[in-house]
Amino acid sequence: DLGTSLRGTLEDLRGKSRLTEDDVEAVVKEIQRSLLQADVDVSLVMELSDSIKTRALEEEPPGGTTARDHVLRIVYEELVALVGDSTELPLEEQTIMLAGLQGSGKTTTAAKMAWWFSKKGLRPAVIQTDTFRPGAYDQAKQMCERAEVEFYGDPDAEDPVEIARRGMEETADADVHIVDTAGRHALEDELIEEIEEIGDVVEPDRSLLVLDAAIGQGAKEQARRFEESIGIQGVTITKLDGTAKGGGALTAVNETDSTIAFLGTGEEVEDIERFEPNGFISRLLGMGDLKQLTERVERAMAETGDEEEDWDPEDMLSGEFTLHDMRKQMNAMNRMGPLDQIMDMIPGMGGGLMDQLPDDAMDVTQDRMQRFEFVMDSMTDAELEHPRAIGQSQIERIARGSGTDEETVRELLQQHKMMERTLKQFQGMGQGNMDMERMM
Ligand code: GDP
Ligand code: MG
Repeated sequence: DLGTSLRGTLEDLRGKSRLTEDDVEAVVKEIQRSLLQADVDVSLVMELSDSIKTRALEEEPPGGTTARDHVLRIVYEELVALVGDSTELPLEEQTIMLAGLQGSGKTTTAAKMAWWFSKKGLRPAVIQTDTFRPGAYDQAKQMCERAEVEFYGDPDAEDPVEIARRGMEETADADVHIVDTAGRHALEDELIEEIEEIGDVVEPDRSLLVLDAAIGQGAKEQARRFEESIGIQGVTITKLDGTAKGGGALTAVNETDSTIAFLGTGEEVEDIERFEPNGFISRLLGMGDLKQLTERVERAMAETGDEEEDWDPEDMLSGEFTLHDMRKQMNAMNRMGPLDQIMDMIPGMGGGLMDQLPDDAMDVTQDRMQRFEFVMDSMTDAELEHPRAIGQSQIERIARGSGTDEETVRELLQQHKMMERTLKQFQGMGQGNMDMERMM
């Protein structure tokens, strides 16, 4: 099971807080294997791998996040970007036309979708235009009976376009018209012409391409032809209850610049799901808990964010730099990265300027930060506001109260002075062209 080895690779990262290139390489390799196995197009997989690698190495993990969660979140976000959101389907009057090769699951999907819309309180009707396949009429009629939805077809008629025209008239009272079409075993001009003509008559609000989950790279040509002739606004992947994971359909989504609307997960009318990225991606990778993990990272970020609510980096560059500011800045580093990197992002402040400063001017390590937190907890508000006024007796009191030592308190005050001095150099320089909103 591929999911197992990906999980294993990720577990190896659990204790780490930093990702090396090798770590990222190992994770990406597992993801590539899973996706290729699931029939995702090679070039899509390569594109995805590149973005994951770049982001995982360049982006700073948010505070309190393990390397594993960090990379998982990036993987998840990139996959969501690849598969897209589900096709927008307003619950209103509309006509939907289904296209696809024979056996892909159009007729089944038509009845399933009608069932789905009826559960949403709309009145759907299925119009069956397949005169090509013997038994198509009976099959569609039976499924619509099971779904308890209106059905129109004509077993004796020979012209699918004429059936479509009459079907739209006969079911005029319905809210949602679902037009089922005939397929062929392979792409033929005849098939494309027929569906174009039906499209001209029923004027669909959206046309969905129905694809068997087992479709591999054949999806590309089909998607291209249907997109060119009738325009495809969404994809439905059927037979996901089997072993195929439907990765080939992503090629169709990419080719038609569309999204996925529904998933078919069985032969019965209720076996339909609205597409939802998380479930699909987890299935694609053979992992069940991606979204949950992603949400954990987001929670960690939100929590860090709360503390910084009243922290405006622009304040640092104007007026007094207090210990309150320094504390907020230290907390913010968890989220945004070290101060020198923040400064690099400000136009006119990056490049070289920071290099002229003493190495430790901006260096506040985790460990030091923790001890500084204790120290600041033992200070009064007045002391935090005016650290330069802190005298020897206060230093003794703060050291005792914080469970640290006088040395640490002095270090903190020294650090504050250095940061203040550094910021003074910046005062006035970057103001006016600072765009903190964009930076964050
Ligand atoms: P059409 O030729 O495109 O109209 O395809 P059909 O709707 O007739 O489906 C072809 C076959 O696939 C039928 O035997 C269906 O029962 C089966 N089928 C369709 N959708 C699914 C699905 O989601 N899961 C499974 N297991 N079978 C399906
Ligand atoms: Mg059919």
